[in-house]
Amino acid sequence: MKHRATYDQMYAKFNQKLWERIIKKNHRGRRVEKLYNATTKFSRTRIYMGELALAFTFMFTSVLFGNGSNLPNNTTLVYPFYQVSTLECRTLEWDAMPDSCKINLPIIHGANYETYQYDKTYTDIYTVLRGASYSLGRDQSVGAHSATDIATAKGTPMYAIADGEIYSAGWNSAYGNLVRLKFKYNGKIYYAVYSHLDSYSVKAGDLVKKGQEIAKVGNTGNTSGALGGYHVHFEMDQDASGRPAYSYNGCADLAVGHYQIIQQGLCRVELFKNTLDPIAFLESAWATYPDTSDHGSAPTEPTTPSEPETPTEPTTPTTPELPTTPTEPTTPVQPTQPEEDTKNLIELDYNKLDLTGKEFLNKRDITIEQSTKEAISLDQTITFTITIKHKQTGEAFHGTLNQPLLFIASNTNVTLDPVSTVLVSQGKAIVTLTPQKVGSVYLAINKGMAKIWGTTIVIK
Ligand SMILES: [Zn+2]
Repeated sequence: MKHRATYDQMYAKFNQKLWERIIKKNHRGRRVEKLYNATTKFSRTRIYMGELALAFTFMFTSVLFGNGSNLPNNTTLVYPFYQVSTLECRTLEWDAMPDSCKINLPIIHGANYETYQYDKTYTDIYTVLRGASYSLGRDQSVGAHSATDIATAKGTPMYAIADGEIYSAGWNSAYGNLVRLKFKYNGKIYYAVYSHLDSYSVKAGDLVKKGQEIAKVGNTGNTSGALGGYHVHFEMDQDASGRPAYSYNGCADLAVGHYQIIQQGLCRVELFKNTLDPIAFLESAWATYPDTSDHGSAPTEPTTPSEPETPTEPTTPTTPELPTTPTEPTTPVQPTQPEEDTKNLIELDYNKLDLTGKEFLNKRDITIEQSTKEAISLDQTITFTITIKHKQTGEAFHGTLNQPLLFIASNTNVTLDPVSTVLVSQGKAIVTLTPQKVGSVYLAINKGMAKIWGTTIVIK
């Protein structure tokens, strides 16, 4: 240790001088020796005391400031990417690809995934959303993925989303090359987690500026390899007593393994407690593109918040559910168990409904039966029977719904008739699914804008 060598040198020099002085002043052997020993002991103790005090000072400062109170407070953030590659160019390396392969990171305004759910520009890039499974990457109601996966080519530069401190930069068997950025936003500590990186250019303790390039996209660690494999698993962890809170901490199902947790939608309570939806978080912070023209230095803070980014936003408030605990169901809502029979009742997620939808359902029960859940052949059909009854009286609803029930198919492998319904006759509405092509289709049921159910149907 460098400082120890310095101390030892100082100590030796000090003793030498002291010895000389004692020799000169005292000529009586024993007494001199005694005095020398005593002084040595004292000086040694003093040096160690000094060292100890120094160590305490460091400890104390880390106690006082290690919780992030020394971090600059961010009031705006930037996206982790400025540009990403198009799907066609995903196999090329970033530095070798023509500019025509590069597009600005598509922004999901208002974190409104519904709006963009069939737009390939978005679905090719945002491949797995937080709360989704790998197989249904954009259905946030079925899985327990802790981050948003953003797919782009190998080597795509990534930027610090805030002024902050690198909490860690290193290898993790699951996350591959992993960088965690600790930062303060509106007075609260967060950790932005960049993983599966090809490389990174920071180390733990580095202070970074918002928009500073810190890493390049890779495919390291435990990745699923979809769409060329290169992607960042971009996670937003909330402060939990000064430490990054990995999403599944405290989950009883942890032994099942992360893949199964994600696929089966286990540990969602812990997921929603410990992580935030990165897209919603950035959007709520009026994130802008990082200023990449001047790598390393922070883009000058706009004097006015960068609102211009979203002038075309619809008038609906876009405030995503942040940062307080999301209103996610801790336990799936059981639509008041009707009699068990052979019909396949679809479980609807009423928690996704807006206030108007909930108000309607407070008084009524909706059940939807699906005639078969098996894979079907081209000549078969599936019918969905929607039954709406009054909760107390059991009276069948007859009339027009305040919000339509929408039936949405992800492709043209099937046709639906009707595609939406507001008219319910004698408590019932029936939708028929007719296969058109062999393959699979993702089917969703919306009530108004809120998705309340989704499944994949296979046509043999
Ligand atoms: Zn991921």
